[in-house]
Amino acid sequence: MRDRDTTPRHVTLAREAVFARDGYRCVYCGAEGTAETLSVDHVQPRVRGGDHSAGNVVTACGACNARKGHRRHTDFLADEPDTWRHFRARAGYLWPRLLAAVEEELARRATRTHRETRAPDRG
Ligand SMILES: [Zn+2]
Repeated sequence: MRDRDTTPRHVTLAREAVFARDGYRCVYCGAEGTAETLSVDHVQPRVRGGDHSAGNVVTACGACNARKGHRRHTDFLADEPDTWRHFRARAGYLWPRLLAAVEEELARRATRTHRETRAPDRG
């Protein structure tokens, strides 16, 4: 075991270093994996200005990575409350603005839902 990770957010991490920091678990669902089954996800996609800094990359399993696809992380996480709960608990090392952006998206949606008359079906 290595000491608790204290890598500054701006440092670029190698693939294995990202997995090690996250304990080889997907930050979105908590599934455990290996270097073969896990992938590095750019929370803010590079095309949207995200970089490869430690504050923008997380460990993701194949299923979550595929589900996220090319969606904004704010849309992905606001769509899936359980995923957001896992993510927020595990990814506290991210750039604060990335987490704040999700909170803002959720607040925006709450306002929008309030305006709609249709009640959500919660099974
Ligand atoms: Zn996952």
